[in-house]
Amino acid sequence: MIGRVRSMRSDIISQPEQRITSLLGPNHTLSLIGVNSMAKPTVSPLHVGDRFGRLVVERLNHVDTRFNRFWVCACDCGKSAVVYQGNLRNGHTRSCGCLQQDIMRAMQTIHGGRQTPEYRTWRHMAQRCENPNTRGFKNYGGRGITVCVRWRRSFANFLADMGPRPSPFHSIDRINNDGNYTPKNCRWATKSQQRRNQRPQFER
Ligand SMILES: [Zn+2]
Repeated sequence: MIGRVRSMRSDIISQPEQRITSLLGPNHTLSLIGVNSMAKPTVSPLHVGDRFGRLVVERLNHVDTRFNRFWVCACDCGKSAVVYQGNLRNGHTRSCGCLQQDIMRAMQTIHGGRQTPEYRTWRHMAQRCENPNTRGFKNYGGRGITVCVRWRRSFANFLADMGPRPSPFHSIDRINNDGNYTPKNCRWATKSQQRRNQRPQFER
């Protein structure tokens, strides 16, 4: 089982840094190392417990004849993977392969006869901003909130920037409540994360 995933496909790596952060949560910024900073590779050693996306480093598996290190990593989904250190560092590998599967699933607008949650989110977002007959329009389109052109143009763009919804408890959140639906201003967040975000500074 462990050796099987060595040649796994890359997860999407073309996302802006902010999107990856929101996909993986605020504590997972290590996964960004190398994604947009190929010019200055990190030289610090890997440590047991380091997190790269959904993967947490567990132990060294082996070193090959060219001194490449391969690490056993535990994936958030429960599987293990042996991953070449360089692929962890450069952001190429961020799961056992399950993240790629989740993105492929979310790319379908229909899954199991129902619209995927990501597609529903995308559609409702546009309606809140553009259809005056939609409940809630006054809090969105009525306040001048818009969906950026890149997302309005295609669901695929929206999904590439946002990533799959992490869980049924997450919904799309505008970080600045007066800002628009754009890759920079949106993330998947739970209700409690959204409340925390809205609370004024002095309360914390
Ligand atoms: Zn996994």
